[in-house]
Amino acid sequence: AAKQRGKAGHVRYEPGMAEPVLAHFQLGAELRRALDAGEFRVFYQPVVGLADRRLIGVEALVRWQHPTRGMVAPAEFIPAAERTGLIVELGRTVLRETCRQMAAWIAEFGPDAPVKVGPNVSGRQLHDPGFVADVRAALADHGLSSDRLVLEVTESSALRGRQVIAALHELDAMGVTLALDDFGTGESSLSLLRAFPASIVKLDKSFVDGIEIDDGDPAAGDARQAVARAVVQLARALRLDAVAEGIENEAQARALRELGYSLGQGFHLAPPMPAEKMTRLLAAARSAVRAA
Ligand code: C2E
Ligand code: MG
Ligand code: MG
Ligand code: MG
Repeated sequence: AAKQRGKAGHVRYEPGMAEPVLAHFQLGAELRRALDAGEFRVFYQPVVGLADRRLIGVEALVRWQHPTRGMVAPAEFIPAAERTGLIVELGRTVLRETCRQMAAWIAEFGPDAPVKVGPNVSGRQLHDPGFVADVRAALADHGLSSDRLVLEVTESSALRGRQVIAALHELDAMGVTLALDDFGTGESSLSLLRAFPASIVKLDKSFVDGIEIDDGDPAAGDARQAVARAVVQLARALRLDAVAEGIENEAQARALRELGYSLGQGFHLAPPMPAEKMTRLLAAARSAVRAA
């Protein structure tokens, strides 16, 4: 970076370089402003039983309701939030909102509320020494029982650090469920699973894409089937629940059921939606049950 500095000490931009550098700094400032302005929204995506399509839980996914750019996806701002450290505060905001919403659903729908709600947690949050206390406070402040909360953690973020493993064990002891997200894409799935007190593994979408195509090509669909089968067998052996993510059509849902998956998530089953839409869905499901 020093090479790029001019004699006056300011950065000399070269074509093609200025934009990402500016974008980075602006994004950090924008995220700070957006947090203060309360522009982040939590969407909820159902996790359902593949056989009966029954709602088991919901995953909580953050969105940025930007004043001019519209709804911004997490891929566009989570990396910057991680680099700037703002992810700790953003994650706390998402966690608190998720607990608040779940408590409201339980109050309104009782046994017809989702069983569990699962926000995503970044590695940076896990490394924050206040994380376990934040979780405890979010649960207590909304009167939510710890067994209603799933924390989705990716393999890579969980891998590093003895304190992180200690924090995960503390959460597990509190009764919080831990899910290993994007399973199969990390480096050390098997050894990690032993050290990590997870009760759910989420098969990454990359193994679900094309899983329905059985064309005898071991480099394509068949290899994915082999991975998907290995993951569900591993889950069964370790008494974990396996959830298949990113199911986009009925053929994939069927293929995954045949491989032994009982839980799934994906646009074909239900897309992520705002809390109000999820509430309407819960109300409709309840009146359907009453009418039957
Ligand atoms: P993830 O946790 O693996 O979440 C699943 C992603 O797949 C979501 O993308 C969801 O909208 C998308 N998805 C679900 N079903 C389908 C499908 O059938 N087809 C396709 N193509 N996509 C599907 P989203 O909401 O854009 O989130 C992307 C990632 O951003 C998440 O991946 C998660 O790693 C991260 N993320 C989201 N919210 C948060 C958050 O609050 N905190 C942190 N740290 N990370 C978050
Ligand atoms: Mg997730
Ligand atoms: Mg995932
Ligand atoms: Mg994934």
